[in-house]
Amino acid sequence: MGLFGMNFDFGKGMVRNAFLFVFLCYAQSFLLHGQDTLATVTAEKGDGIYSLLRKHGVNPYEYYREFIDINLDNLRDSVHLLEGRTYVIPKIELDTVPVVDSIQKQAKEVKEVAATTYEIFGEDHKTVLSKSERLKGAIYYLVSGHGGRDPGAMAVYAGKSISEDEYAYDITLRLAKELLAHGATVYIIIRDENDGIREERILEMDRDEVAYPDIEIPLNQLDRLQQRVDIVNDLYKKNKGAYQRLIVTHVDSRSEGQNIDVFFYHHEKSKNGKRLAESIHTTFEAKYKQYQPNRNYSGTFEDRTSLFLVKKTHPAMTFIEIGNIRNEKDQRRILDPDNRQALAKWISEGVILDYEER
Ligand SMILES: [Zn+2]
Repeated sequence: MGLFGMNFDFGKGMVRNAFLFVFLCYAQSFLLHGQDTLATVTAEKGDGIYSLLRKHGVNPYEYYREFIDINLDNLRDSVHLLEGRTYVIPKIELDTVPVVDSIQKQAKEVKEVAATTYEIFGEDHKTVLSKSERLKGAIYYLVSGHGGRDPGAMAVYAGKSISEDEYAYDITLRLAKELLAHGATVYIIIRDENDGIREERILEMDRDEVAYPDIEIPLNQLDRLQQRVDIVNDLYKKNKGAYQRLIVTHVDSRSEGQNIDVFFYHHEKSKNGKRLAESIHTTFEAKYKQYQPNRNYSGTFEDRTSLFLVKKTHPAMTFIEIGNIRNEKDQRRILDPDNRQALAKWISEGVILDYEER
């Protein structure tokens, strides 16, 4: 199904009908009884897209995008369900027509062949299904900010302490999974073997993150940064000649109360780093226009060579700062697992754009 967005100049109801119409046509090409396939459901308090889809027996990882496409009018910020609203569940009933059943089975078999397992993503997320080969040949080093005994910026939410490193790590894992699904080689530099991708709002703090492949992270800030620089630069040398990029992710604090959206930094002298930052920035601008036309995107992309990692690492890189963990509005965005997924997805799309236009 194509993506129908807010770009169409219909009234609100019209857009929704257009969705349903298209969906019916689509469904009917597989089924004889189109209307049987349109399950609708009313969101209850606490429902998220993932949990709602799961509750109705639909794999959220396969249908997340489609769900957003057909329910866009009833979503806040394009990813939040609104309590009491009715949503269409994108799902084809398998038991009505036997022909469909075999098509589904075939599709499933093909997918099983192309699936790889990575324990680092955790039990529920370890299977990575191949989506494409668009990043074949590309190598990414992903560094999430802080870790080990350094939690980064901290805040209190609902009486519980939350820390930057856990959220940056979760977004980084989601990004890694996206990149792997498109055929890239990915090194997750800061790692936590017992925290996979987490679907909770409050990500429990811990101190057992290590640096690739399994080295303790020093507490001293300069030693900590130097360790990352050395690991990345060693790998860079080893993979010499390949397309290699470094992506560093932080969820920072700035000054209290400031709402910062997403910032992208690069090295002043790196043409490729600048282009990578620009590609992701452009993708974010487009996404905001598409999904949140009434909201201004206030992120920027700029040179910030003063940052240690930007200055010292050899691969072309971008340093991403996602939101302000102490800002109430940003918190909402960072704490919501669906939002972390959307952020990771958008970054991955910018990364693909950069690779394909190299
Ligand atoms: Zn930070």
